[in-house]
Amino acid sequence: MLNEEPVGVAVLGLGNVGSEVVRIIEDSADDLAARIGAPLVLRGVGVRRVAADRGVPAELLTDNIEELVSRDDVDIVVELMGPVEPARKAILLALEHGKSVVTANKALLSRSTGELADAAERARVDLYFEAAVAGAIPVIRPLTQSLAGDTVRRVAGIVNGTTNYILSEMDSTGTDYASALADARALGYAEADPTADVEGFDAAAKAAILASIAFHTRVTADDVYREGISNITPDDVASARALGCTIKLLSICERITTAEGQQRVSARVYPALVPSSHPLATVNGAFNAVVVEAEAAGRLMFYGQGAGGAPTASAVTGDLVMAARNRVQGSRGPRESKYAQLPIAPIGDIVTRYYVSMDVADKPGVLSTVAAEFAQHEVSIAEVRQEGVADEDGRRVGARVVVVTHRAPEAALSETVAALADLDAVQRVASVLRLEGTGQ
Ligand code: NAP
Repeated sequence: MLNEEPVGVAVLGLGNVGSEVVRIIEDSADDLAARIGAPLVLRGVGVRRVAADRGVPAELLTDNIEELVSRDDVDIVVELMGPVEPARKAILLALEHGKSVVTANKALLSRSTGELADAAERARVDLYFEAAVAGAIPVIRPLTQSLAGDTVRRVAGIVNGTTNYILSEMDSTGTDYASALADARALGYAEADPTADVEGFDAAAKAAILASIAFHTRVTADDVYREGISNITPDDVASARALGCTIKLLSICERITTAEGQQRVSARVYPALVPSSHPLATVNGAFNAVVVEAEAAGRLMFYGQGAGGAPTASAVTGDLVMAARNRVQGSRGPRESKYAQLPIAPIGDIVTRYYVSMDVADKPGVLSTVAAEFAQHEVSIAEVRQEGVADEDGRRVGARVVVVTHRAPEAALSETVAALADLDAVQRVASVLRLEGTGQ
């Protein structure tokens, strides 16, 4: 039975995602009404440029966002403008006026999650953001609802399609970073200014959101340790292959226990070697995947399209239907859970495995000197490879040593690398990457 009273919706933004959301609201009106129990009615669409050619009736368009989100006939505001302002102001105003809010804005959520969640709590309305992490892939709702009775240990994923495309290209063609980035731009996967993607800011924002939910602790983008992919070389990719691995930009959120038995949250983003047999190694191109490890559930993997207008709109309209159902039933969905308030672990506390590549003098005894430095800092070596380095004419001009370690604290590894760089036998430490997903 349909409720006579419609649910009024305001959509802010009519770009890649907003235009798809408006299309779904209109094309699937009857189905959505049946699922919600009341018709969804689009009250207005907020844009910068109000014009006749925007694909929605002109009377729905407005550039007066404040007026739109305050209207009495609007129940739910869908924010798809990005980035931080004016989205933050618009969402806070909507919440103050008692509207439920759906947003895909990871940049805003990873900075202002507390402020927005507090405002939603004061107004006793929903704040949903499934699309903010990994586009179409359901990962927020599984973490907040399906796993609400379990203890999440780790969430690790590939949550940025641009960098995954670039690294997949480097791996499959042997090309360098600049060429792979140029390809990503030509195909529309990379923006004109790719910094947010390639330097890991976008992945760090998503890590902050995932860590907050998984560990019931407010984590912001500033709490996330971050390294990007712009220093990855074809030599790194080739060495990774020789070791049976591929390089992926990972967002890792982990519950760690200190030597004193205290629980902490680690959230970090960096390019890492992943064994080719690991499920994340097979995620190629612009696809995303998130692996969740929980105490009772074990390992769960979520895979799919992490961006794009229509895939992202799927997650947004899913949230919209949930928020509308709650309105019709006079209820609310799950609110922010932050009771654990675990401290954030510094990167030096992390224990993982490492790949260290260095150019060395091509003479006897160098390997033992290098190995002694690792031993001195109690970093145990699992594997060493030595290769000749040739010039353009194929003449051997030096040697490269690649060391793969067993698990060691990040602090010990940093000290080892600093000491290696000071050795006469080491011309330069070319690259230091982590090795994840080996389970040892
Ligand atoms: P977009 O294509 O750039 O569209 C942004 C829209 O917002 C435009 O219609 C623009 O109006 C409107 N807008 C921007 N500033 C405004 C202002 N000050 N006042 C009124 N309207 C304003 O962006 P998008 O790709 O759809 O992304 C929207 C949000 O979804 C962002 O937060 C993004 O991070 C998130 N998201 C996107 C994807 C994706 O694949 N695109 C995936 C996940 C999450 P005009 O059209 O008039 O300029």
